[in-house]
Amino acid sequence: MTPPDPASDPVPTSHPRYLSLITREKITAGVTRGVTSLHGLIAHGRGEAFDYLLGEQTHPFASSAIAAAAATLLSASRPVISVNGNACALAAQDLVNLAAATGAALEVNIFHSSPERELAIRSMLLDHGAPEVLMPSRSHALEHIDHNRRWVHPDGIFSADAVFVPLEDGDRCGALIRNGKKVVTVDLNPLSRTARTASVTIVDNLVRCLPALVSLTRQLASSDRTSLAASAASWDNPAALAAAEAALRSGNLS
Ligand code: ATP
Ligand code: MG
Repeated sequence: MTPPDPASDPVPTSHPRYLSLITREKITAGVTRGVTSLHGLIAHGRGEAFDYLLGEQTHPFASSAIAAAAATLLSASRPVISVNGNACALAAQDLVNLAAATGAALEVNIFHSSPERELAIRSMLLDHGAPEVLMPSRSHALEHIDHNRRWVHPDGIFSADAVFVPLEDGDRCGALIRNGKKVVTVDLNPLSRTARTASVTIVDNLVRCLPALVSLTRQLASSDRTSLAASAASWDNPAALAAAEAALRSGNLS
């Protein structure tokens, strides 16, 4: 079945769930464009459920994590942004802007192996102004992971000291950490393996937190690297996850 074309079937702005529905349109358009897998739709639905329970808002624990993420990426020597099909469909322009603001490379890395989809993601990032997009190599692999996602670019994730991996799978997040990298992720589920393994977890919707992260990295771009590194090192990720879990369990959606 062909997903609706957002241009010919617009969501009325008056709809109470307008933002959620527009975000769905972006994901389904990603499938049409060949950047998002069908499995990605299921992952998105899981995210929506947690966002609903969080009242579809950016909580203080997420704002603090955004600040820690900015400090981590700006104080890194070789930051890299790992882009999968969902992240690209939802936030291609913000990812390109984040790369520019932090000096990070953009690298394509997807869960379900597909050279066509890798190229479609690269093409969408280039269309949004990325000067360069790295692709997985067949020469350099991460250790501690044995599926398609181990293949990385030698000048990108392979040699990165910090990797931004929104909407990541737990196995790969763990492999990045075991390869000695700092990992910054965005994951609406504070209980996921990714959320619990990463160095910095922003428990928020990617489409809400990325503009704030881009804006903050622009503001902090000329800050002293040593104080940014100190600020990144003082981040308490388990405490932020505990606050997110408490918000979920409170049942207070307002
Ligand atoms: P893990 O492998 O880390 O244990 P999982 O297997 O439950 O997690 P995956 O499909 O591997 O889930 O990863 C998708 C994750 O991304 C889920 O935790 C989901 O809640 C989250 N997610 C989906 N869409 C968004 C979004 N728009 N913003 C933030 N998080 C999202
Ligand atoms: Mg998973």
